[in-house]
Amino acid sequence: MQHLILGGGPAGIAAARTIRKAKSDAGIVIATDETEAPYLRPLLPDLILGEARDETILDPQGADLAEKGVRLLTGRRAVRLDMGNRKVDFSDGTQEGYDVLLIATGGKPEIPAALKKELPAIRVFDSRRDALGIKERAGLPGGAVVYGPGYLAIEACRALRGTKKKVVWIKPDLPKYGYPIAGELEASILDDVRNRGARIMEGDEIVHVWEKGPDTSVVLTRGGVEIPCSLVVIATERVPSVGFLAGSGVMVGMGVLVDDFLRTSAPNVYAAGDCAEFAGKPKKVGRINFGWRSAIKQGQLAGENMTGGNRRFGSEQENYFWALFGFSLLDRARK
Ligand SMILES: Cc1cc2nc3c(=O)[nH]c(=O)nc-3n(C[C@H](O)[C@H](O)[C@H](O)COP(=O)(O)OP(=O)(O)OC[C@H]3O[C@@H](n4cnc5c(N)ncnc54)[C@H](O)[C@@H]3O)c2cc1C
Repeated sequence: MQHLILGGGPAGIAAARTIRKAKSDAGIVIATDETEAPYLRPLLPDLILGEARDETILDPQGADLAEKGVRLLTGRRAVRLDMGNRKVDFSDGTQEGYDVLLIATGGKPEIPAALKKELPAIRVFDSRRDALGIKERAGLPGGAVVYGPGYLAIEACRALRGTKKKVVWIKPDLPKYGYPIAGELEASILDDVRNRGARIMEGDEIVHVWEKGPDTSVVLTRGGVEIPCSLVVIATERVPSVGFLAGSGVMVGMGVLVDDFLRTSAPNVYAAGDCAEFAGKPKKVGRINFGWRSAIKQGQLAGENMTGGNRRFGSEQENYFWALFGFSLLDRARK
């Protein structure tokens, strides 16, 4: 039985490990578009800060995949799912077949129109490669602008202030897809960010960015303020990476729609992690997670159910993103 997993993040790897535990002879392939060994995305701010190195952000879950007989195919972006023939096409022209498929493609940051341009100063904050680019750019003179509504923007501010960069956080309206930091808690975290020296422009937007010199760009806000800077970091919400499913027959809302067993609308196709969304629930709570621990838990459950299990997903507060490896993320945001 061939198990194909799209995405080498925590959900995909946890599923692969669980499938192996259940079936010693199962064929297991993980195909992911990133080119490096699996790494711990939550430690990317520490990579920018210089508090973590490439080796220390490797995901321990991914360390022994080859020994466990899991094939990891890197640099493979799924571009089409052919359900009739149970095959996935990849951007490099290759194909992989499956008996059971897991979609664990996570999310990518939503990019606002004004930032959809190729300028060296504009950097997305999502991957290891992004973090290394931000770190390099943070070494230039000039300040940084962070754009985003929530937790990832808090983390970007923390990392950049740690590099001694002057930071302006342009914070648009509330995140759209469910967010645990609100009310008094949010106010107190914003105070911490301010106390660390970042200026916060709440409820504002970026309307234009242009290049003024090789290392300097200018950000224009909706309120008419011009901010010269050497770095503009996009730290927006991660929107499920599901574009390749168009026309496949798998039902998609904002994310891949799943039931409590993480089954999609299509036979033998499951979804887990940041790309998944519970069918029939309101948008704010339908998003199963944002968070590392929840992605692992979902991957494990999907792996069980892909190998004959019949267990429902139980969403618990502590599986949201409050803690990672035992310490509080809110404490981290306040560091
Ligand atoms: C900077 C940053 C900091 C974060 N900090 C925290 C934190 O402190 N705590 C916390 O709990 N969570 C944090 N998160 C969120 C956490 O990383 C995610 O919730 C988690 O990684 C989701 O896991 P996943 O396996 O669903 O998806 P991902 O980790 O996103 O993995 C999906 C993989 O699939 C790949 N992929 C996407 N599309 C395709 C395709 N078409 N074909 C093949 N491969 C594809 C992606 O490139 C990626 O490698 C952070 C995220 C970021 C970006």
